[in-house]
Amino acid sequence: MIPKDRLKSRTIAVHGGARRSQYGEMAEAMYLTQGFAYPDAESAEARFVKAGEDEFIYARYGNPTTAVFEERIAALEGTEDAFATASGMAAVSGALTALLKAGDRVVASRALFGSCLYVLEEVLARFGVTVDFVDGTDAAQWVDALSAPAQVVFLESVSNPTLEVIDLPNVCRLAHQAGALVVVDNAFATPVFSRAVEHGADLIVYSATKHIDGQGRCLGGVICGPRELIRGKIEPYLKHTGGAMSPFNAWVMMNGLTTLELRVRAQAHSAQTIAEALEKHDAVAKVLFPGLPSHPQHALTQATMDGPGTVLAFDLKGGKAAAFAFMNALQVVLISNNLGDARTIATHPATTTHQRLPDPQKETLGITPGLIRLSVGLEAVEDLLDDLETALAAI
Ligand SMILES: *Cc1c(COP(=O)(O)O)cnc(C)c1O
Repeated sequence: MIPKDRLKSRTIAVHGGARRSQYGEMAEAMYLTQGFAYPDAESAEARFVKAGEDEFIYARYGNPTTAVFEERIAALEGTEDAFATASGMAAVSGALTALLKAGDRVVASRALFGSCLYVLEEVLARFGVTVDFVDGTDAAQWVDALSAPAQVVFLESVSNPTLEVIDLPNVCRLAHQAGALVVVDNAFATPVFSRAVEHGADLIVYSATKHIDGQGRCLGGVICGPRELIRGKIEPYLKHTGGAMSPFNAWVMMNGLTTLELRVRAQAHSAQTIAEALEKHDAVAKVLFPGLPSHPQHALTQATMDGPGTVLAFDLKGGKAAAFAFMNALQVVLISNNLGDARTIATHPATTTHQRLPDPQKETLGITPGLIRLSVGLEAVEDLLDDLETALAAI
């Protein structure tokens, strides 16, 4: 095969990691098996001492189908290796727990997905890890927090649901000076728009449930990074604690990667059109989308990412009543809490994904009663604009 460094991402997305059996099947085989039989006792012993590249022991440790997904996403992301997990949260919590021990310190941006906040605020604290939160968009707060030693910096490169964009090159530099590894939750940026590795991220985590599947079928996650960290720290932790991805889900996710770039670029294009239209609407107080010149990190997005993403948020002037009236009037757009799906989805974060947070925390994070998160799908943008305009008129 042509050396990987000469191939473009769309070619890697189609061919990366593929391994064919003796039948030469076109579509990747699905090895729906928990384990593997050994030809003799000596082989079993040898494999437990050290498994070779194409030798597997147990699907909790690894599986040929999962390996294709891992190799394909690592090649797309530009990392040496990857470990696939049962969900995005298995990837987030697995990466953090594998790296940290009691007495360690984490610095994290505070605008995070609800479950990420739970892991940082509730779980890590119980095991004696200190977590200090900063406003991720404020460079001075990062400088201040990272003037003391830390072991891990955790952030969402583009935050859920308020679309704050982090200055990754700067935060990675400060983190490394403080002795910390940078773990980036890149769900919103996607492997298509992200240049996290180039900017110094050590581990990049995805909820594959989102854009990688892209069709709302399976849960999954993945941790990408250097081989030393993935095989030295992440794999031992995850293979013994049970967070591995099922081979069936890996098969779905690897096929998701094949069309990821086409889908995400089309979705981002529609998101841009919708964001621009919403910004002009009387019922809308504010639109949050990194592709708009009005976004506080618009220039940073253009400098550090290859696109603005597929998710936007907007604040309705009429608060919760307006938000609910709007959502209930939608006819094409679905009310749900997934994102990155082919179907456009409206979410009311204050009462669903971020409901658990106390009101003052919601306020600090900008999760207002009128805030709607819109994950833009693959429908015709004209139909989406019609649907949104009709629903806005119904408020
Ligand atoms: C959805 C999401 C997760 C969790 O992923 P699951 O696959 O649902 O476990 C983590 N981080 C971010 C930013 C997300 O949007």
